[in-house]
Amino acid sequence: MSLTRQQKTAVRRIEAALASIEAALPGTVLRRETRCGRANCRCHGDPPQLHGPYWWWTRRVDGKTVTKILPDDLYEDYRQAFDNHRRARALLAELEAITLQAIEADPRYSQRRTRGPTAPAKPR
Ligand SMILES: [Zn+2]
Repeated sequence: MSLTRQQKTAVRRIEAALASIEAALPGTVLRRETRCGRANCRCHGDPPQLHGPYWWWTRRVDGKTVTKILPDDLYEDYRQAFDNHRRARALLAELEAITLQAIEADPRYSQRRTRGPTAPAKPR
């Protein structure tokens, strides 16, 4: 596979950005208030006084959704890793786009017959 000079420059930038990532945590984090399971707790009162807000970290583990409630200090510790994960995903998507562009420019690939609805768009 051969890349144009412009594509190589973009790949070097993506590599450098990925190399600067030290830790990454997957999933989504939401800040929200909650009710507990105790029926006589203030969170079930009128008006309800909810617990929190806390940070709810949700991710998939072996195909199942797992949630952990994080206190502010842990969230602050992990925040960079959550941001890094999003950044790494975006960088990988960029790398994929460049690579798809590169193979579409290769007649050995682009002249192959395309099947199915997920086929990549023809190059412009
Ligand atoms: Zn409660």
